[in-house]
Amino acid sequence: MAFDVESSKPLTAIVIGTGFSGLGMAVGLKKAGIDSFVILERAAAVGGTWRDNHYPGCACDVQSHLYSFSFEPNPEWTRRYARQPEIEAYLQKAANKYALMQHVRFGANVVEARFDEGAALWQVKTADGRVFSAQMLISGMGGLSNPAYPKLPGIEHFRGKAFHSAAWDHSYDLAGKRVAVIGTGASAIQFVPQIVGQVAQLDLYQRTPPWIVPKPDRPISETERHWFKRLPLLQRFFRLGIYCAMETRVLGFVLNPKLMLLVQKLALSHIARQIKAPELRKKVTPDYTIGCKRVLISNDYYPALTRANVDVVTDAIREVREHSIITNDGIERPIDAIIYGTGFSIQTMIPRGMMFGRKGVDLVDVWTQGPQAYLGAAVPGFPNLFMLMGPNTGLGHTSQVYMIESQIHYVLDCLRTMRRQGAAAVEVRPEVYQRFNEGLQKQLVNTIWASGCKSWYVNDNGRNTTLWPGFTFRFRSKTRRFKASDYVLEKAPASVIA
Ligand code: NAP
Repeated sequence: MAFDVESSKPLTAIVIGTGFSGLGMAVGLKKAGIDSFVILERAAAVGGTWRDNHYPGCACDVQSHLYSFSFEPNPEWTRRYARQPEIEAYLQKAANKYALMQHVRFGANVVEARFDEGAALWQVKTADGRVFSAQMLISGMGGLSNPAYPKLPGIEHFRGKAFHSAAWDHSYDLAGKRVAVIGTGASAIQFVPQIVGQVAQLDLYQRTPPWIVPKPDRPISETERHWFKRLPLLQRFFRLGIYCAMETRVLGFVLNPKLMLLVQKLALSHIARQIKAPELRKKVTPDYTIGCKRVLISNDYYPALTRANVDVVTDAIREVREHSIITNDGIERPIDAIIYGTGFSIQTMIPRGMMFGRKGVDLVDVWTQGPQAYLGAAVPGFPNLFMLMGPNTGLGHTSQVYMIESQIHYVLDCLRTMRRQGAAAVEVRPEVYQRFNEGLQKQLVNTIWASGCKSWYVNDNGRNTTLWPGFTFRFRSKTRRFKASDYVLEKAPASVIA
């Protein structure tokens, strides 16, 4: 048997990442009495996306009483939609409370994971040369962890400052600067209103306008927090109420996209109320049905665009020069800095050369049509590998944490089954995997996400590889129990028993 080089102890599991997925999984393992695991974290602190994204105005667009662990209710949320520092602190607190820090190996950037068929173990290498080995590999890497940078012509000549929203440089003083913001997605609409008052000029390069509806945010009063603390059941009901309200959105997204036209009306009146200038109104009004791309919520984005120092640029970028950007209409705009609000490389969440299954097959070579998995977690040829927030587990309508917890429960049930049946490895049956994914793709055909827009939900093959098409309680019921018949269970190899 191979050993963790640090502890010389055989490991049950290696968990990658310390976001909601990794930490939630670790809590689950501990509660199941499993202590023999490490959590590999490439950064120097826990928190995942809520550690990395600290741009001004960063907040969750799902209400925090729902966007949190079910086993760790937080009566102290200060706003309906908590801001990043509060969410990061919540995760740090959970990591300490459940004694997870002793399991975390910081600075452990996983560069390769390989299934050793002889030993039925995963061998995981980190960039700094450490090697870990365990029966099970659980990826909590998330889809939105690697920033995407656009290939702007001439960018190599740019002499100013440039950074991505997911790697905000707070040491760079934006006061009085001429700033180009590229992208108008979920992140940009949060940070633009925060910086617009500091900068001299903000040129907002918009390729596709997002649909935006009002954000029903407000502080949670001390009295409310007091009662949430005193009556935990009250908080549970509150959470359930939010959950049920959010699930109704599936009716429009999946079952009858025409219903989304009602939401579209709300969004149009939001534009009409907040923007008076017809030309700007026209620029920010999308030409696709609402819901096709992520629906955003904001009360301060449109007002920010009406300021005299903001220019919404819809012409494509032709060239970046040393200190300026030129658009296709020939206009040159001088700039000091570029801020990329251009999202993440979701389609390459597991890059080529990182994950190798049986016979050394690269996971990317299995995913010829794009990422797919059984229940967003398992792939044939990759025994004992489980992905949390893997393919088609993303949501456009409610809390991702609900999906993560469903998968954690499933993985734990798998471990229990393996122990009960004396299995060293489990591998999803190809026909189960195929049937599941064909079913998913069929359901996705008539959803709002296939109504004719370009979004990161859908890959270049026209396949939606990211979203779960339906109610989240359906996903929960599918992951409630690990069905051994969906998998091939293998006993420990003779070499290991010996
Ligand atoms: P995003 O939503 O993918 O937006 C990226 C923006 O950059 C889009 O406007 C996109 O235009 C533009 N863009 C990308 N490449 C470009 C190029 N080459 N040239 C010009 N424009 C380009 O990214 P994000 O805002 O970082 O958000 C990513 C995801 O993170 C969200 O969808 C959401 O799931 C999550 N998020 C969540 C929260 C939250 O509150 N929970 C907050 C922030 C982010 P096109 O639309 O034309 O592609």
